[in-house]
Amino acid sequence: MTKFWCDLAWISADGNGKNSADGRHAAEDANAADDKSGAGTERGEVKSKVLIETAGGQISAVTCGVKNPPQEAVHLAGFTVPGLANVHSHAFHRALRGRTQVEQGTFWTWRESMYAAAAHLDPDSYRDLATAVFAEMALAGVTAVGEFHYLHHSPKGGLYQDPNAMGHALAAAAEAAGIRITLLDTCYLAGGFDTELNDAQRRFSDGDAARWAERVEALRKAYADSDTVRIGAAVHSVRAVPVDQLPPVVAFAAEHELPLHVHLSEQRAENDACLSRHHKTPTELLHAHGALGPRTTAVHATHLSQMDIDLLGTSATAVCMCPTTERDLADGIGPARAAHLAGSPINLGSDSHAVIDLFEEARAVELDERLRTERRGHWRAEELLHAATTAGHTALGWPAAGRLRPGAPADFTTIATDTVRLAGIQPAHAAESVVFAATAADVRHVVVNGRFTVRDHRHELVEDVPGKLAAAIGAIFK
Ligand SMILES: [Zn+2]
Repeated sequence: MTKFWCDLAWISADGNGKNSADGRHAAEDANAADDKSGAGTERGEVKSKVLIETAGGQISAVTCGVKNPPQEAVHLAGFTVPGLANVHSHAFHRALRGRTQVEQGTFWTWRESMYAAAAHLDPDSYRDLATAVFAEMALAGVTAVGEFHYLHHSPKGGLYQDPNAMGHALAAAAEAAGIRITLLDTCYLAGGFDTELNDAQRRFSDGDAARWAERVEALRKAYADSDTVRIGAAVHSVRAVPVDQLPPVVAFAAEHELPLHVHLSEQRAENDACLSRHHKTPTELLHAHGALGPRTTAVHATHLSQMDIDLLGTSATAVCMCPTTERDLADGIGPARAAHLAGSPINLGSDSHAVIDLFEEARAVELDERLRTERRGHWRAEELLHAATTAGHTALGWPAAGRLRPGAPADFTTIATDTVRLAGIQPAHAAESVVFAATAADVRHVVVNGRFTVRDHRHELVEDVPGKLAAAIGAIFK
C-alpha cells in the first residue's frame, strides 16, 4: 500500500454528492443534474491536505483535511488532479512537428507530408517512436491515451508475420512509457467515396470489414487480461469505410462493448462528398447505420448542422475536441458548447501532436469560442477539467478512472504551483489557474496504477525522453 499526501487536490463529486465510498469525505457542491455524460458530474472542488491511499493499483481511500499525514506518506507538492486522458492520438504525427509549418496549404496538403512519414515506419521503428511520444505525454500529465491506429500492414500492404505486429508495438510502447492505452484499431478501406486506396494508404487496409474484425479479435483476446491495455474499435471516417462495410464494424464494437471512435466532419469537403454520394451528412449516415451512442466518440465534429448536433446529443455520442490540431490544420472551430448542451460529453485529444499539452487543449475549447462569439465564459474551468479527465477516460473505456475516489485506478497528476506561471495562485482558483495558465512543463508528478511514471518532472522509466524523440524522428527522415 502506498499513501500520497497532496497539498491540494481536485475532488470531483459523484451523482449523490459524496466523494468517498466510505463516507469520509463529501463534496458539498455536487450537482447530479449537471451530469449529462453518465461519467460523473462535472462539479468538483479543490480540497487541501488530501491523503490518497492506494493498494493494488487502485485508490482505497481519499481523506481531506489531514493535517498530520502518516510518516510514510509521499508528499505531492502542488495541485493533484485525476490523470489526464488524451483521447485522440496518432503517435507518428509527432514526427511532423515543425516540418509542416513552412508551407501554405490545407489539411489535404498537410496529409501528403503525413503519408510520407508513415511510409518509413515498421514495427521496431514505430515502437521506438511511440515509446518516446507516449513518454512525452506522460511528462505532460497524461495517464491514458487513445491511439487511433491504422498503420496496420507493411508499406506495400502485405501482412506482417503477425498481422497485429504494429498494434503490439504500440501497446508495448505505452507499457514502456508507463501509461494506459486504448488501442483504437481503425478500419480503413477506401481512399474516398468510390475511390480506391492510393499507394500510401494501402498499408492501412485489411481489404474488408470482416477481415478487419478477424484481426482485431486476435488483438482483443491478446489483451483481455491486461491491466493497462484495452482494445477499442474505430471507423477512420465515412470517406474511408464504404457504407456497406460500416455495419460489421459497428456490430463488432457492440458485441464486445468496445469504445467506437470515428473522425467526423473535420473538413467541409468530407461533408460535401458525403452529401453528394449519400444525400446525408456524415453524422446522418453514421446514425442511419447505428454507429452513434454512448460508447461512440466523434472526433473533431467541426462542421455540423443543427440536425447533426441533435443526433449526436440525443444519442449521447461523445465529441472529442482537438483544438490545437484544428487550428494548426485550419479546420475551423467545432460547435463544442452546442453539442454539449444537446447531450454530448466533451473530451480532448492532441491528435496530430502539433503540441502535446492537455491544458492548452482544454483552454482552447473556451478561448476559441470567445474569439468566435466575442463573449467570455462559455465553459467553467471545472467542466474543462472534467473533459480532460473523467469524460476522457470514459470515452476510452476506463469508466472508473479519471477521478480521485475509492475504487478508481490510482492514476493522478500533480501540477507544480510554484513555477513562474502558477506562483501566487489561490487554492480557491486552482482549477481556473491550471486550466487557463498551466502548461505541460508544470507537471511535476504522474502516478499510474499506483506507481510513479514521472517524479519531480523526470520520467522514471524512459531515460532522456528528448534524446529518444530526436533519435526516433531522425531515423524516419534520414
Ligand atoms: Zn485524427
